[in-house]
Amino acid sequence: MTLSITPLFSGSSGNAILISSDDTKILIDAGVSGKRTEQALASVGVQAGEIKGILISHEHSDHIQGAGVLSRKHNIPLYATRMTWQAANGKLGNILAHNMREIGKSDFFVDDLLVEPFDTPHDAADSVGFCVSRGAKKIGVATDLGYFPKSVEHRLHACDLVLLEANHDKKMLAHGPYPHHLKQRIKSRHGHLSNDDAAHAAIKLTAAGVSSILLGHLSEQNNEARLAFRTVTDALMSEGIVPGKDISLGLALRDAVTGVFYVK
Ligand SMILES: [Zn+2]
Ligand SMILES: [Zn+2]
Repeated sequence: MTLSITPLFSGSSGNAILISSDDTKILIDAGVSGKRTEQALASVGVQAGEIKGILISHEHSDHIQGAGVLSRKHNIPLYATRMTWQAANGKLGNILAHNMREIGKSDFFVDDLLVEPFDTPHDAADSVGFCVSRGAKKIGVATDLGYFPKSVEHRLHACDLVLLEANHDKKMLAHGPYPHHLKQRIKSRHGHLSNDDAAHAAIKLTAAGVSSILLGHLSEQNNEARLAFRTVTDALMSEGIVPGKDISLGLALRDAVTGVFYVK
């Protein structure tokens, strides 16, 4: 029995994360075009028609851009909360009634995958993160977080692997090209997690027993992969946690398939 995560795209320009067990494949978000998502899936040997469901974290276009097309073309159910459905209305196009699955905040199954949605602090109608498990193996995806609340931390404690947001470097954001209001939005408690915030979160998750962390949802303008990785590595090292030994630390690419990560 295996469980794996394959980040197809992860960043402020589009997110789509494949989660696979032996029998079931689902996507968390579909925020790039249907065509590019199909191509990314094909590059790891998956046909879009095999996807059993797309979990929608929130209605921002970097999470739903390709969801409507994929649902129509391949008859894939979309799972979103009531308020997210309302907020996404008009952005997804027509979705067949049987593919409009309304979720709450309780656990549900997509075939053999157990899905646990949890609230995230973000400026969307009703944003959520997801833990997905098969048997004793569990993966968490937590991006689009203005900060890292205890409630989210506790949800991720039981995960083997967490895809964690490391959106921006605070200095790059401050000195970067974004207009003032956008900078304020990103660093607010309903915006995005900085590299420093991700580093603190990574320390807590490692202490809780999480064995792998993938940094993701990096900003194109306000971050660099090496900087995000270095910031989190340094913070872990300062706590005596050695990446590569005490924890496996990786980074999800913004606009290419990162690879397949199996939960052992
Ligand atoms: Zn996003
Ligand atoms: Zn968002």
